[in-house]
Amino acid sequence: MFTDVLVIGAGQAGLSAAYHLQRRGFVPLARAGEAERTFIVVDRNPAPGGAWQHRWDSLTMSTVNGIFDLPGMKLEQPDPRERSNVAVPAYFARFEEEFDLRVARPVAVSRVTRKSLEPAFAPEGRLHAELDDATSITADFIINATGTWDRPYWPAYPGQKTFAGTQLHTHDYVRAEDFAGKRVVVVGAGVSATQLLNEISRVTDTFWVSRREPVWEELGADRLARGVEQVAERTRKGLPPGSVVRATGMGRQPWVIEAEKRGVLVWHPMFASIEPTGVRMPGGSFEPADVILWATGYRPALRHLAPLGLRTAAGGYRVAASRSLDEPRLFLIGYGPSQSTVGANRAGREAVVALTRTRLG
Ligand SMILES: Cc1cc2nc3c(=O)[nH]c(=O)nc-3n(C[C@H](O)[C@H](O)[C@H](O)COP(=O)(O)OP(=O)(O)OC[C@H]3O[C@@H](n4cnc5c(N)ncnc54)[C@H](O)[C@@H]3O)c2cc1C
Repeated sequence: MFTDVLVIGAGQAGLSAAYHLQRRGFVPLARAGEAERTFIVVDRNPAPGGAWQHRWDSLTMSTVNGIFDLPGMKLEQPDPRERSNVAVPAYFARFEEEFDLRVARPVAVSRVTRKSLEPAFAPEGRLHAELDDATSITADFIINATGTWDRPYWPAYPGQKTFAGTQLHTHDYVRAEDFAGKRVVVVGAGVSATQLLNEISRVTDTFWVSRREPVWEELGADRLARGVEQVAERTRKGLPPGSVVRATGMGRQPWVIEAEKRGVLVWHPMFASIEPTGVRMPGGSFEPADVILWATGYRPALRHLAPLGLRTAAGGYRVAASRSLDEPRLFLIGYGPSQSTVGANRAGREAVVALTRTRLG
């Protein structure tokens, strides 16, 4: 099958790209006439919502960091108590229907290769996506919008395999009540780590560790812009982009103040090793644990791009203004500085504008 543009992933970034493609005259292949420029959006998930359909139930519309509207359609004032894993997928479903985007799902891209042997951009060169159902799609351009949810990051610590209790990543977290009566070590310094620490501490005993202690800040627009630019700079150089939230800082939100008052946010340095019944601290003391919750973030889900050979020795992709610097037919959105709902929106537009200029130029 051939299409002008293949969009991989139908989260915030992929839907933004699809919207802008359509605005510029591209039509979903499934309803395109002869001679029309086409696109296809494929998504591995069985239903609309991108990663939002998998967030834990206690992440409500009032505890998310802030979700930006998709382009061209407002998320009507949601009930702050509503679960984000319900409200956002429903909104994405309405969006897909309103713009008749014909997202193909569940369809996963397993490998992307070059159709021709051209090492660099050539007008006749094309990218080729192999799908998990053994079919394939050839495209002039690929807009990759595969997010991070499918690649939870687990750091390795000595003794990890000997732990007799439960280890889980936030990816598989369901509810605090599951830990009642157990001692939970929470690992991580981001928003998820601290929010879940706060939540779990209401039902059981917790112990919080991370490599560095978060600094809570009053975040202004300047601080946010500086943080995003730092990530953009790393991304241009092909370094692993890291977390945008880490670069932009942690906002001192009302729940943080409340958790501090309850004496919950008591930080400890990262443990040195894991033993069957707990963790050994750097000074030699022992902390018993029944559960270790790894709130250690995610990595970009880009394994399907490996055959293109674009990964740098440092482990990242060289990307500027949402476009691969080493493969001009490839755009990476929701990657690096655009790992946020507002960033994903902008990156979708930026990729489509650049791609259209390439075609016309
Ligand atoms: C717990 C948590 C809370 C967050 N809260 C916020 C917040 O409040 N505000 C904010 O701005 N940001 C938040 N973020 C960041 C958030 O991930 C981004 O803002 C945004 O939702 C990501 O959109 P995306 O389109 O890049 O990725 P996703 O929503 O992850 O969508 C990617 C899609 O690609 C699909 N896919 C992946 N690989 C393949 C493949 N090989 N083939 C086909 N399809 C594939 C996936 O199935 C998925 O549907 C949060 C992140 C986490 C982890």
